[in-house]
Amino acid sequence: MRLVDSHGHVNADRFEDDVDEVLDAARHAGLERILVPGWNLRSSERALELVATRPWLDAAVGVHPHDASGVDSPGWATVERWAYDERVVAIGETGLDADRMFSPWDAQLENLRRNLALALATAKPAILHCRSRAGERDAQDALVSELRAAGFGGDASKAAFGDRPPAVIHSFSGPVDYAHEVIAMGLAISFSGLVFRRGEEASAAVATLVPEGRLLVETDSPFLSPPGGPRGRNEPQYVAVTAGWLAERRGMGEAELGDRLVAAYDGTFARPATHPAATA
Ligand SMILES: [Zn+2]
Repeated sequence: MRLVDSHGHVNADRFEDDVDEVLDAARHAGLERILVPGWNLRSSERALELVATRPWLDAAVGVHPHDASGVDSPGWATVERWAYDERVVAIGETGLDADRMFSPWDAQLENLRRNLALALATAKPAILHCRSRAGERDAQDALVSELRAAGFGGDASKAAFGDRPPAVIHSFSGPVDYAHEVIAMGLAISFSGLVFRRGEEASAAVATLVPEGRLLVETDSPFLSPPGGPRGRNEPQYVAVTAGWLAERRGMGEAELGDRLVAAYDGTFARPATHPAATA
């Protein structure tokens, strides 16, 4: 089965000692692309370092809601400069987190807005983290209104992105009507091992709703190990578990789904034309 991991933090410290072994295992499992998102300055810089010597990996730079209050204006100016690098195919991860609130809500909103503006300016999709406390949906509702206010799903995102998704809901979590709203705005949805957790039952229905070219799969390594994956550190190779689940939900053979996942990845993230793997 051909596979992609549209969100794997192999730039995390926990991979520093054995990143090449982890990437070899991913290659053997069929992975053809991994998107490596940053969450603050250091991790964004590490993502750039990793993709510099490994052309089948892509980078994203941005600031996570947890780090919203930890990145000052000069730091943000650096992220903005990196965002124009051709190896950077997306902005993020960013978003909102009303569950853990490691940064105050106002700082999260301000941070989300600067990341969304950068996505529109660079025409690189925003990668969006969005979590509420169990049984709640305040972060999802706030995200939808922030997206609308920034022009996503309207003229601003159409001008920048055309038919490409202007943003990706990463590691989907939330109710079905929220999924309908973001799909109507043209966004892509990426599923992770979170779909197997209690409280995330709506994901099974959402998995059947996402239009083909906007259906993505990810691990969110080193987090969110799926059943059968390691209890501790998750790795990109285990994206196969969630991809298998998606194939079942969509009533499709794994080989066919794999081809479509690769096509959706390439249709979402504009990889540089000079990128050796882009033509492979
Ligand atoms: Zn992540």
